[in-house]
Amino acid sequence: MIHWTHSERGVTANIPVLGTGDSGFESRRSDIVHMKYKGFQRNIEDFVCEKCNTENIGDGYTNHCYMCLWSKHVDIKPGDRKESCQGLMKPIAVHTKDQDHVLTHKCEKCGFEKNNRVGKGDNFDEVVKIATSQAQAFVSK
Ligand SMILES: [Zn+2]
Ligand SMILES: [Zn+2]
Repeated sequence: MIHWTHSERGVTANIPVLGTGDSGFESRRSDIVHMKYKGFQRNIEDFVCEKCNTENIGDGYTNHCYMCLWSKHVDIKPGDRKESCQGLMKPIAVHTKDQDHVLTHKCEKCGFEKNNRVGKGDNFDEVVKIATSQAQAFVSK
């Protein structure tokens, strides 16, 4: 869109062009993001999965890779990111609770186990794979 403005020097065209200083595009964008999440205590962070290198967009709920479902041992209490272990956590089991699927992650480094709800965007093929291998392990016992 082109705005024509009259100035003392005559008629000038004010054409917004990406990359010019007066567009304000970048700063406006961060304002919107800031306003949108103001007042929320959730941890919103993007991360790259260390298991399969998939880029994950943080939504504040997901703490595991949506593609391979592996997690990382970073929390002492949920969301505090204070755990120094930093080991990769393998999804070892899945069960259902209140119509949700819940994954059990086990830290490969220290053996810590934690339950995490499966998110809407998670790779359900992988959930099924875990459930299947879980069932096979049960049968072969
Ligand atoms: Zn992954
Ligand atoms: Zn650990």
